[in-house]
Amino acid sequence: MTETDQAPPPFEPVDEDWQTALAVVAHPDDMEYGAAAAVARWTAQGKTVVYVMVTSGEAGIDSLDPAECGPLREAEQIASAAVVGVDTVEFLGHQDGVLEYGLPLRADIARAVRRHRPDVVVTTNFRETYGGVFPNQADHIAAGRAALDAVRDAGNRWVFHEQLKDGLEPWNGVRMVLAAGSPEARHAVDTSDHFALGVASLKEHKAYLAGLGGEMADADEFLESFARMAGSRLGVRYASSFEVISLRG
Ligand SMILES: [Zn+2]
Repeated sequence: MTETDQAPPPFEPVDEDWQTALAVVAHPDDMEYGAAAAVARWTAQGKTVVYVMVTSGEAGIDSLDPAECGPLREAEQIASAAVVGVDTVEFLGHQDGVLEYGLPLRADIARAVRRHRPDVVVTTNFRETYGGVFPNQADHIAAGRAALDAVRDAGNRWVFHEQLKDGLEPWNGVRMVLAAGSPEARHAVDTSDHFALGVASLKEHKAYLAGLGGEMADADEFLESFARMAGSRLGVRYASSFEVISLRG
C-alpha cells in the first residue's frame, strides 16, 4: 500500500473557548482563501476578530500600477472583512511581493499584538509548500513566520522595548497561533453554516478576481473543493483547516 492509498487522518475541532483574535496575513485576499468562513462563525459566536494586513497587495494586479492598486485593494479588503463581521482592518504598509522576514516585520506585528491583546493569532500557511510540490508564496512564508515569532516578542518586555511607552505594555495572553490551510493541519473549524459568507467575502475582491482569471478566480468552486475536503475529515459538510501552534504547555 502506498502513502496515497491511505485516507488522511481525521481533523480535531479547533478550541473555540476564547474571545478575541488578531489575524495577521501578508495580503488582502489571504484570509478569504479559506479562513473567512471560520471568521464568520467566530464573529457570529460573539467573538471579536481584527485583521492586520502586512502589505496592501499593491503588486497583485498585473494591469494596475501599485500606486493605484494599493488603495483599491485596501478598500476591497475592508468591504470583504465587513461581510464576515470584522470591522477593524489595519495595513502595516510593507512592500508587496518583496516582504522580508526580519526584525522590522516582527516589530510591527509585535506592536499590533501589544495594542490589540488578542487571545488567538490567526495567520496563513507559512510552510514551504501547500502539501504537494507547489511552492508557497514568499510573502506568506515571511508574514506567517514573523507573526508566530512576534507573538512571543510581544510578551517579552525587553524585546522591542522602545514600543513600551504611552501605556503600551507587553502582552503574554496569546494562547495559540492558527495557520490556515497549512499542510501540517490537524484541526479544523466547522463552517457548514457560514460557508456562503466566506464565498461572499472573497467575492468582494472584485478588481483582484477580475485580474486573476483561472480556477482561483471562481470563488465558489475553488473554496468549495477545499472546504469539502476539510469537512470530510472533520465529519461535517464544510470546514476550514488549521495548523494549531499551542503556546500554553
Ligand atoms: Zn497572498
